[in-house]
Amino acid sequence: MNQTVEELVAFLSTPQKIIITMHRDPDADALGSSLGWASYLSKKGHTVTVISPTDYAANLRWLPGMSKVLVYEKSGEQGKCRRKIEEATLICCLDFSALSRLKDLGKLVQDAKAPKLLIDHHLEPEHFAKWMIWDTKAAATAQLVYALIKEIEGDVPTTSIFDIPMAENLYAGIMTDTGSFKHGNVTPAVHLAIADLMLTGFDTSRVHRLIYDNSPLSRLQFLGYVLSQKLIVLPEYRTAYMVLTDAELARFNSSPGETEGIVNYGLQVENVVMSALFIERKGEIKISFRSVGDFSVRDVSSTYFNGGGHKNASGGRTELSINDTVDLFLSILPKYKEELLKVD
Ligand code: 5GP
Ligand code: MN
Repeated sequence: MNQTVEELVAFLSTPQKIIITMHRDPDADALGSSLGWASYLSKKGHTVTVISPTDYAANLRWLPGMSKVLVYEKSGEQGKCRRKIEEATLICCLDFSALSRLKDLGKLVQDAKAPKLLIDHHLEPEHFAKWMIWDTKAAATAQLVYALIKEIEGDVPTTSIFDIPMAENLYAGIMTDTGSFKHGNVTPAVHLAIADLMLTGFDTSRVHRLIYDNSPLSRLQFLGYVLSQKLIVLPEYRTAYMVLTDAELARFNSSPGETEGIVNYGLQVENVVMSALFIERKGEIKISFRSVGDFSVRDVSSTYFNGGGHKNASGGRTELSINDTVDLFLSILPKYKEELLKVD
């Protein structure tokens, strides 16, 4: 057991009041890892509250334990969140590495007196946490939660620690962050973790279906529109991009979570190694980048778009107009041309 885990085990040997929070617009890894970790801590006798900085996509509502998650941005829940954070004796920060990823909740967490535990797999974390379980080679934060629980519990049978709801939450995180086990971040450790979690008897195919085959008809129609009308391919840069405006989102009644995953379609075009999705929502510009191979979209988003993330999946934001944001993107492509062309 390493020193961080030893210290944690000692700290958790008495009941604590624990907050678990994750990045804004949480995805299945952020929520699944948080809910899995929350179940474990509750079973150990701690009082646990999970707080999401913002609302989340409709296809994640079924995750076990979700009905108790507080959403800081909801006006009726802000007071309760504040109180819980003030009273907390430990704040767990999952699936993000910079407090700015918490939106308005960031300041509250920063000022809180409770020690913080970071569990994350993003690059270059800020040093705000007392304890860090941090591994950029981990495919998902849910994989780190799984490994941490195993390390704490030692040699006991999996089914005496993990139950079906915990396994579903952790599986949802690992499955989505690996693109259903197809990205370059899949390692033997990923499959071994899944094999072990499957001993609980949960239904992997049900989790997949509930996340991916659970869209309102309007989302599929919206996707049809985006792919047929909005997908632009620049073969000379091996780049695909899509731009969605407030008006288009309103026309298709598209809620925030419904644009999740659309950026990946750009990578399905032959020869494309970078895909970008620009979304204008209520005047705010959010960009998602995806890439394959050695081309780092993290570099693109951290250098030009106030963002970050992973080598092959990153995101950012600008305060420019949507048109100026896209112009900026197009203007930097020549700088990356050589790197884009050399990807296998
Ligand atoms: P998505 O495109 O799914 O919103 O984000 C992909 C990845 O990029 C996320 O897992 C996260 O690591 C990173 N990311 C997205 N938005 C931001 C941002 O605004 N700032 C930073 N630092 N990373 C981001
Ligand atoms: Mn993640």
